Amino acid sequence: MELFKTKKELKEYLKEKKDAGMTIGFVPTMGALHDGHLSLFREAKDENDLVVASIFVNPTQFNSKSDLEKYPRTPEADLKKLEGEGCDVVFHPSNEEMYPEPDTTEFDFGGLDEVMEGKYRPGHFKGVASVVKKLFEIVEPHRAYFGLKDYQQLLIIHKMVKDFNIPVELVPCPIVREKNGLAMSSRNELLSKSERKQASLIYKTLKFVKVQAGFQPIHELKNHVEREFKRKNMKLEYFEIVDLFTLEPLTTWLGSKNVIACIAVYVGNVRLIDNIILFS
Ligand code: AMP
Repeated sequence: MELFKTKKELKEYLKEKKDAGMTIGFVPTMGALHDGHLSLFREAKDENDLVVASIFVNPTQFNSKSDLEKYPRTPEADLKKLEGEGCDVVFHPSNEEMYPEPDTTEFDFGGLDEVMEGKYRPGHFKGVASVVKKLFEIVEPHRAYFGLKDYQQLLIIHKMVKDFNIPVELVPCPIVREKNGLAMSSRNELLSKSERKQASLIYKTLKFVKVQAGFQPIHELKNHVEREFKRKNMKLEYFEIVDLFTLEPLTTWLGSKNVIACIAVYVGNVRLIDNIILFS
């Protein structure tokens, strides 16, 4: 496995591979790797001649300094996991390498950034788009793999790729969960044992919502979800039932063909997100 810390060396290495006709799959991550990340990696490995993974905790997508500071970092274990999976190339740059000067690119997400994560984490998606655009320009992958766990992020990156005409195929990958249904996340590392147990309510609730979708009125379902989390002393930041493509909140099931339910909850001090596709 090749490890690169500079753009220049990585670009030179990949140019040779591309000139030899190899296809490149790319998996961007912030490290603290778990099976969710590795599932993207395995899919990339199946579909490409060479796989590049990046590990970079992107400061510009954190809207709180303490969140950035406490974000788990396990670079040595990550490299071992990637090596074990047969990863070809890892890009692990410093902040200075990625941001020699502040990024001033302007993005227009067409309103996709105004709801849910965008509403509660101002500037988050600008930071995500900015780092993913930079990484795409460095790696120039044929395909890039993203988890459906961060569904809103996937739509935003899709819009950015279209707007900037970036020649990459985005491959969405299913959410990988713990045995108790909790969506795998690097942030789960910050949960205590009992909090992990508590957090299983998130997926349990989403599954209940999926069963009720189309039957119980949306406002009643939303009230039910709010009550459930209140009863268990968990702070629900949002629970939204939205259009799968525009992310506009729905108030009725009538005429709604593509629908997803998205949630953000604090378990203790840890903010977790999840979603479930209701109709598509
Ligand atoms: P992160 O390191 O959190 O930025 O995530 C890197 C990539 O892994 C993103 O495309 C995430 O959507 C994806 N990912 C994170 N957790 C999961 C999961 N539980 N299942 C599938 N993909 C995931």
